[in-house]
Amino acid sequence: MAVSFSLSPEQRRLVAIARRFAEEELRPLADEVRAEPDPLRRALLARPTFEKAVGAGFLKGLIPVPFGGTAGSGVDAAILVEEWAAQSPDFVISMAGPLIALMPVYQVGTPEQIRRFVAPFLADSGAPVAAMAFSEPDGSVNFDAPPPAEGIRTTAVLDGDQWVVNGRKQWASHLPGWDGDGPDVMTIVCRTPGGVSLVVAEREHLAGHIEVEEYLDLPGLTGCLTARIALHDVRVPRENLLGAEGQGGELTRNAFFASGASIGTFATAAMRQAFAVAHRFATTQTRGGGVPIIAHQSVADVFADAKGRIEAVRLLSWRALDAVLSGDPAGPELALHSKVFGSETAVDVINDLVKVVGVTAYDRAFPLVRHLNEALAYPVIEGSNIGLRRRQLQAMLAAPGYDPLAASGLA
Ligand SMILES: Cc1cc2nc3c(=O)[nH]c(=O)nc-3n(C[C@H](O)[C@H](O)[C@H](O)COP(=O)(O)OP(=O)(O)OC[C@H]3O[C@@H](n4cnc5c(N)ncnc54)[C@H](O)[C@@H]3O)c2cc1C
Repeated sequence: MAVSFSLSPEQRRLVAIARRFAEEELRPLADEVRAEPDPLRRALLARPTFEKAVGAGFLKGLIPVPFGGTAGSGVDAAILVEEWAAQSPDFVISMAGPLIALMPVYQVGTPEQIRRFVAPFLADSGAPVAAMAFSEPDGSVNFDAPPPAEGIRTTAVLDGDQWVVNGRKQWASHLPGWDGDGPDVMTIVCRTPGGVSLVVAEREHLAGHIEVEEYLDLPGLTGCLTARIALHDVRVPRENLLGAEGQGGELTRNAFFASGASIGTFATAAMRQAFAVAHRFATTQTRGGGVPIIAHQSVADVFADAKGRIEAVRLLSWRALDAVLSGDPAGPELALHSKVFGSETAVDVINDLVKVVGVTAYDRAFPLVRHLNEALAYPVIEGSNIGLRRRQLQAMLAAPGYDPLAASGLA
């Protein structure tokens, strides 16, 4: 099949539909969120918009077709994420919980597990949420370290036909759900006698067993419902174990490849917004010098370099999402490049754009530093670049038989 980078007529329509929803719904939501100081109240502001998105079929669009959803290609996903994240990356992150939490269900779930755990997200109404409960307050990246290191601290032990889960979790969107009684589905990374394992808790198991210790006040992505919680004696049916005991490390790694690839798209969205703001300034402002500041070569060079890097990250993330979601063996490596290169490029590019605008940018009312605050999250979320993602790349690069051309498909 020929490779083409031109959008099809259907993809052009998707751009238009996604952009209209972003401008009509997400932009006003983002303004409201910015004005609300309390982290829980501002996260709850998203709920009516969330319900509209579910009603319009966008949540189903995250679920792959073989599991009852309507998900399109990786490039379709990138188009939607970029348009929405340009206005509110927090909203996209909140909504994308099933993308990570259900990935191990798709990989190893029994037909009965798939039916039960996916069902809430095929709804056409309401505001169903999922959490991938991997990260913990005392550290996450060494989750599969063997004893005597602590690794993951949350435990699940069998009591008759039930797993009893205890521990503390932090960071994942919607750990407490909208009301503190938990999300519809929580995929919990925990330690069982057989090693690191995944068990799925449903809302009926979580209600009354979650203690919210704190709602976190993030410097960017401020609309995310992010908290630190304790799980007290959460009782989950034995059959809610995903795959085998001890398979949790591998399943967790795989669960974060698609979301890792999407970070390049989030990074593109932040850069594109920052570029537009800075470019408008540079083409209209003379700062008393008689010509728009873009007429100075040093200023224009910043824009030229920034634009090239934005285009490069966008294409990389399209390719990475396409590869991961289509099962191309190049997917994992490309996802890591999209995550690491995309996130760090965004921080650099937006920081350069702040410098070129000058002191005007250093005013909360000027809409530029907000995108730097978003971008600062991308190297450290979805598996931090230093703690996790570069180590995964190291393992690939050092593996016997690694072929440097394989990721491009030219091997
Ligand atoms: C908005 C938002 C959404 C999030 N969504 C989720 C989610 O859905 N699910 C979820 O589970 N988490 C989520 N997180 C958390 C996120 O995925 C983090 O990337 C993850 O917890 C790892 O963070 P960390 O590297 O700081 O971990 P830590 O374990 O705290 O490590 C801290 C640092 O120590 C260093 N380090 C530690 N060990 C090593 C080592 N072996 N080698 C090299 N360096 C090391 C690294 O520099 C690392 O960055 C979210 C966070 C935010 C802000």
